[in-house]
Amino acid sequence: MNERPHVVCPHCNTTNSIPAERLADAPLCGKCKQRLFTAHPVELDESSFQRHIGSNDIPVLVDFWAPWCGPCRMMALAFEQAAAELEPAIRLAKLNTEDEQAIGSHHGIRSIPTMVLFWKGQEIARQSGAMMAGDIVRWARANTGELHAA
Ligand SMILES: [Zn+2]
Repeated sequence: MNERPHVVCPHCNTTNSIPAERLADAPLCGKCKQRLFTAHPVELDESSFQRHIGSNDIPVLVDFWAPWCGPCRMMALAFEQAAAELEPAIRLAKLNTEDEQAIGSHHGIRSIPTMVLFWKGQEIARQSGAMMAGDIVRWARANTGELHAA
């Protein structure tokens, strides 16, 4: 990771440049002054999805889900808990595939829930099926370990 990684604000979608050593100090957005990390997944729509996937220097883990999907609703709390553990190393986000069908089909989402891990605009891993919080955290760390070591 570079020394001043770009972090997209979950509230106003402004791209902030934060010294890497300050990421864990509850940094605020330079524009809206709200916290860049809130221990909650960011709800994305089409425009914020492009911004978060394309402009974040930290990896972004997206939960593709839908309101009618029982396993997705079961996993929602686990995903919340995982956000609290994985921030600020990884941004967690949710994409409602019923509201944003074009994004789901563009990324080849055939079953939900599916988690896709993005880094610098590229998919680096994906996993389908509901998971417990601990498994989400372990899976995300296992797939981003070399990024942080680099
Ligand atoms: Zn902001």
